[in-house]
Amino acid sequence: MDPLEELHRGALACRRCALAKTRGRVVFGSGHAGASILLIGEAPGANEDRGGLPFIGQAGKLLDRALAEAALRREDLYIANVLKCRPPGNRNPKRDEIEQCRPWLEGQIEAIDPGVIVPMGNFALKLFAGASITIGKARGKRFGHGGRAVLPIYHPAALLYNRSLLPLFHEDMRSVAALAACTEQGAGGG
Ligand code: SF4
Repeated sequence: MDPLEELHRGALACRRCALAKTRGRVVFGSGHAGASILLIGEAPGANEDRGGLPFIGQAGKLLDRALAEAALRREDLYIANVLKCRPPGNRNPKRDEIEQCRPWLEGQIEAIDPGVIVPMGNFALKLFAGASITIGKARGKRFGHGGRAVLPIYHPAALLYNRSLLPLFHEDMRSVAALAACTEQGAGGG
């Protein structure tokens, strides 16, 4: 079995944190196992908890629009979340939940080996940039982490509450596409 599939099977049975008691389904992630871009959101919402896939609700529609506008296809990327199970009532992830769930995400990064990691929103950003930085300051600014390029963007759910962020979100997604193209070219030419 390939490493990502093995990881997926393990996560489906995970009971490391209390969210195992309240979740509907584990939302491991979806996309291309060899993707050059890994998008990381926060946690499943109600639709995802029912459907078992990430970003299939309203926020997912906004994400899809931005991807299409940047000429990116969902099936070529990989999309995961910081937490694989839904926090009740969509509350924020707790620190211990993030720590318990983190090995799944780290395993995904290792197995997929993306050149570009895109944290969407504060919770994903803080895994790579430390606790003090906020997405408002970090969005659109590339940095390196473990030999990969990281380009943080707003979480698509933020756009549902603040439509004025939409142009920035689209602009950042175009930057993600450009960065991935550069990274791939570099890899191919090396
Ligand atoms: S949120 Fe993560 S650590 Fe907690 S039960 Fe789900 S998969 Fe396991």
